[in-house]
Amino acid sequence: MEALSSKCEGCGAPLEVSPETIVAICPYCGYPNHLSGNLKTENIYIVPTLDKNHIAQAFWKMVDKDFDLKRMKNQLEIVDIEGYYAPYWAGDVHVEGTVRYMVREEECHTDSKGNTHCHTVERHYTESVNETLHLVGSARRQVKSLGVDDMVEHYGKGRPKEVKLLDLDEDGWSKIKLEILNTEMDEVQARLMMHEDAIDVIRNRFDAKSDRIEEFDVRADEPKNVRLVLLPMWTVYYKHENSIFHAVFAGWDGSRVAATEPMPTWRRIQYMSGAVFGILIGAAIGSAGAAGAIIGLVLGSVVAGYFGSKVLEGQRIERGGPFLGGLRR
Ligand SMILES: [Zn+2]
Repeated sequence: MEALSSKCEGCGAPLEVSPETIVAICPYCGYPNHLSGNLKTENIYIVPTLDKNHIAQAFWKMVDKDFDLKRMKNQLEIVDIEGYYAPYWAGDVHVEGTVRYMVREEECHTDSKGNTHCHTVERHYTESVNETLHLVGSARRQVKSLGVDDMVEHYGKGRPKEVKLLDLDEDGWSKIKLEILNTEMDEVQARLMMHEDAIDVIRNRFDAKSDRIEEFDVRADEPKNVRLVLLPMWTVYYKHENSIFHAVFAGWDGSRVAATEPMPTWRRIQYMSGAVFGILIGAAIGSAGAAGAIIGLVLGSVVAGYFGSKVLEGQRIERGGPFLGGLRR
């Protein structure tokens, strides 16, 4: 494939690209090299990052704020800090229409003798939809890694300042430069996905609050304000005893968005007692008879297996806040 070795049009530096690459932003000079597909370079924005030292500080701040990590602070050591910009497509989609749905509700009333009767009724509702969704989705095709979705949520909440990439001069670029992951989805594909996602977001919302959607007549307009946004992501790799863990930080404000964390000894003991408890359930029910033995064994091994696997991993996963309204992908 001819696209596999390429040179920056701005400074001539070699660029690493794949056949899927649509735009490769030069890590040396920041020039956006347009390789294929439909994408206007004036629609590329960047959210400037904090530097490596700030991220290291953010890591230790996170440790101080965490109940478990704080207690093992002396045994923690930063091994490596890696940062890069990941490309996301962002845009606004206006949706409008009507949804009819049914909800089963319990209805109770008390008769003249003071007895309460309850029964289930099907209630029908009609609601109109008329709103603009802000959608954000990864512009890459590879398997998601820890923190990618969490980053999108965090970005949607904070709406950090974006700078047009073409407005950055060489000096501005040199202050915030990091490796940039290649963009693999062009604007035409992004618009199609946003259009579909907008309808899905509304449908999921009504699915969640109804027992049946009876009529769904919602249309999505063409996405507006569509732009490619480069978001800075940092991963701090740190060591505890003989294991490496990592924490992912948003580069613009140093918030921790996701992390794997070592499990302190007392918590390990808690899980271990869970494993013992599981085995005991198995034994107790097992002694109740032959039929009970099978159920008991299955039940016991499920409980023991759940807690047991937590101990084996020796880590827990921490994530950012809850899912946000109109955001997806
Ligand atoms: Zn260059």
